[in-house]
Amino acid sequence: MSAPTTGRALEDLPRITHHVGGEALPGTSGRLGPVYDPATGTVAKSVDLADVGEVDAAVATALAAFPAWRSAGLGLRTSILFKFRQLIDGRREDLAALLTAEHGKVPSDALGEIARGVENVDFACGFAHALKGEFSEQAATGVDVYSIRQPLGVVAGITPFNFPAMVPMWMFATAIACGNTFVLKPSEKDPSASLFIADLLTEAGLPAGVFNVVQGDKMAVDRLLDHPDVAAVSFVGSTPIARHVYERGTQAGKRVQALGGAKNHMVVLPDADVDAAADAAVSAAYGSAGERCMAVSVVVAVGDVADTLVPAIAGRLDKVVVGPGTDPDAEMGPLITGAHRDRVAGYLDTASTEGATVVVDGREQAFDGDGFFLAPSLVDNVTADMAVYRDEIFGPVLSIVRAATYADAVKLVNENPYGNGAAIFTRDGGAARRFQFEAEAGMVGVNVPIPVPVAYYSFGGWKGSLFGDLHMYGPDGLRFYTKTKVVTSRWPDPATSAVDLGFPRTH
Ligand code: NAD
Repeated sequence: MSAPTTGRALEDLPRITHHVGGEALPGTSGRLGPVYDPATGTVAKSVDLADVGEVDAAVATALAAFPAWRSAGLGLRTSILFKFRQLIDGRREDLAALLTAEHGKVPSDALGEIARGVENVDFACGFAHALKGEFSEQAATGVDVYSIRQPLGVVAGITPFNFPAMVPMWMFATAIACGNTFVLKPSEKDPSASLFIADLLTEAGLPAGVFNVVQGDKMAVDRLLDHPDVAAVSFVGSTPIARHVYERGTQAGKRVQALGGAKNHMVVLPDADVDAAADAAVSAAYGSAGERCMAVSVVVAVGDVADTLVPAIAGRLDKVVVGPGTDPDAEMGPLITGAHRDRVAGYLDTASTEGATVVVDGREQAFDGDGFFLAPSLVDNVTADMAVYRDEIFGPVLSIVRAATYADAVKLVNENPYGNGAAIFTRDGGAARRFQFEAEAGMVGVNVPIPVPVAYYSFGGWKGSLFGDLHMYGPDGLRFYTKTKVVTSRWPDPATSAVDLGFPRTH
């Protein structure tokens, strides 16, 4: 179903521009993309889509700003981040409103996203400590060896639609604290958050050119991947694009970390607290309309627990209030586009054709207007060969796979090509410990359905959920955005100097 527009051409809609050299920069490519209000289904704004020349200009600006920024004292760099943190703290509601308008997530969700993003700014504010090197005195007589961490240069961040404020903060806070300059290419679906952040960084005193935003699509991404002056690329998005970014970027000699898609499993053992597990499954599967890379997509019910768990989950679904973020009662908003909503809903037909049981069909709930809504849906008796299990759906459709034993459940988790997160619900500490040891996933939850690490750990999956070796933010972020240099220095004893410096002479 195609979405209605406001009836105005893209050129006549409010325009979301680039931000280069500390100020808004309207595009010159003549290419524009639509930005929807997903709650009404209308095209509300347009966004500039950069061409190669515009990307090159942004990279050149970032490159020109690099020598001064890498020379700026650590105290100055972190004090600007402190100021940015204060500014964003006072503007959380405004930024949340922007996220709701373009992404569709409800305000509580938007505020949660901002809070998790700001944690990374907090972490980066402490980088004066984290950037300290190592020192070995007297590695040989008169010889000291020490390591220092230096920034890479211009680094690029390419981000997905589902966390338009948080994912950029995962990247740029660490990158600029380390002394790099940054070019952000946000999702073209909800691009305004990037400009809001850019303006606050400018207001915080960040020198012009240190943080730049280039709006765009594949053309901008590919130019960043090929550009000889971009030293490193951080990417978050779907697995096919993550693979493309990793392969093309590394081929061009860059350091690349590319986080991909997910199919997160929540294993529920027969001894679990069924009510707690059902609550967790509902919030983790349907929060943000299932458009989270850490959303639970599959509940693996072990033994006979499905007989109580499935009705417990189903019984909670008609209480989830679905509606626009402007409705204070709404707990779940629309999906990002009409095409995506239709694709997600299509899995309900495929699932029943393939033999699964559609317990709750979200299409049965009617909504006023043309917003991209789909109510929570639940599919039972799913097996590993079905499309609803194999594909990343990225919407409010939760599958139940029934497993006879714990071993069957772990096998399912480990044979899945994705490995972002996996959770176990049990009252048995030994079982949880075994799962933590065996699960092939980068982030594991024990009675926690969405185990997103705090900012002082790092975020990343395994298998098809990550291309590269370093995870994002936290200690891995620091490693990604710096290169180490080891200095070996010899200073002869001053008592042997040709010039008499006043030390007792030894010869
Ligand atoms: P996406 O892969 O479609 O887009 C991500 C970025 O890549 C965007 O900036 C987009 O403009 C760009 N892009 C899209 N197509 C491209 C192409 N052909 N060539 C070059 N660049 C291209 O992802 P999305 O739909 O915006 O976001 C949802 C996906 O992101 C889901 O798969 C989700 O699991 C994943 N995600 C992963 C994580 C994680 O940490 N692993 C976090 C958030 C989202």
